[in-house]
Amino acid sequence: MLKSKEFYKGKKVIVRVDYNVPIIDGVITDNSRIVESLKTVNYLIEAEAKIILLAHLGRVKNEIDIKINSLFPVSLELSKLINKEVKFSNVTRGEELENLVMGLSDGDVLLVQNARFEDYPNNLESGCDEELSKYWASLGEEYVMDAFGTMHREHASTYGIPKILGGVTGFLVDKELGMLEDILKNENKIIILGGAKIGDKLGVIENLIDKSKIIIIGGGMAYTFLKAKGFNIGKSLLNDEKLEYAKNMLDKYNDKIILPIDVKTDNGFRDVDNIEDEDTGFDIGPKTIELFKSLIYQNDFVVWNGPMGMFEVEDYEKGTKNLLEYLSYNNIKTVIAGGDTGAAAQKYKLKFYYISTGGGATLEYLEGKKFKSLEVLR
Ligand code: AMP
Repeated sequence: MLKSKEFYKGKKVIVRVDYNVPIIDGVITDNSRIVESLKTVNYLIEAEAKIILLAHLGRVKNEIDIKINSLFPVSLELSKLINKEVKFSNVTRGEELENLVMGLSDGDVLLVQNARFEDYPNNLESGCDEELSKYWASLGEEYVMDAFGTMHREHASTYGIPKILGGVTGFLVDKELGMLEDILKNENKIIILGGAKIGDKLGVIENLIDKSKIIIIGGGMAYTFLKAKGFNIGKSLLNDEKLEYAKNMLDKYNDKIILPIDVKTDNGFRDVDNIEDEDTGFDIGPKTIELFKSLIYQNDFVVWNGPMGMFEVEDYEKGTKNLLEYLSYNNIKTVIAGGDTGAAAQKYKLKFYYISTGGGATLEYLEGKKFKSLEVLR
């Protein structure tokens, strides 16, 4: 939690924010992560701190990544949102940055270029390089972690700096963690899982199934479970390595894990006992949509991560779209637990009780993992 405004007055405060936003041809297509950071940024402006924002954008593995992943457009967007100049350092270390830091007046905001530019060629940010951590820490006096979407990573900017400076969580991280704690505590929730990757969601099932009413599984990950049940899944997505695990899960929790009963394939709708060798399932079918809806009641608390199908393609968006609409229109208390489901909620312009800014971080927290970036603050 942030300290009092008086505490920050005149101090150089490094704030790790999550500005990993989608940018197409220099245009930010979804600014929600920037908007979500405003509460902390504005608080520190009002406190008359000297604010140094660190963030990353995309992955940086070569020269081309450096060309396409500049945070400069973010500085313009932030400036618009706070109605104030945002200074921008085009470098992540060196004289230009140091001069900008030294020139900060109380209440000024400086955004530093993409922290992951330090990843090429030596992986210094992501590898949590000690020297880089020390250098960045030397630029400020206080540290605030407000990059919820990245706080499951132990990078120089998320873990290396607070290891030296200590620090506190910002308003966004407090809000996200509060929501996650509410989810963990609730014994009667419904979890909806989908998407392509099964690996990062099995831990969530394992950690939460005893404290959930049911777990509904759709999307690409459902086919590994369907195969584990003995169905032919044709050419649909399969994670062979997790098949045995899925079998054990189903043996143990057969009544709690709800799978699709029909799917939409590239060759049309199929009941799950009727999928042909040549079929690839890309969405849940209409019977499944109705089944899933029928299991969710007005008073339920729903947590959802991962789309029900390949929703980016119109032909396969119905499962995700219809279920999202059902939850939104009926005001069912729903946490959209980040990632692609958040993107889908935005795409269909639907309102929910809570939309998280973190995908991977949310999943890891729900798996019961502890974040070192958080422990180092405490
Ligand atoms: P994840 O990051 O694991 O949540 O996966 C999200 C991605 O899963 C989205 O891009 C979807 O297009 C994709 N997806 C959902 N259902 C399927 C499916 N049945 N087959 C292939 N990809 C899928």
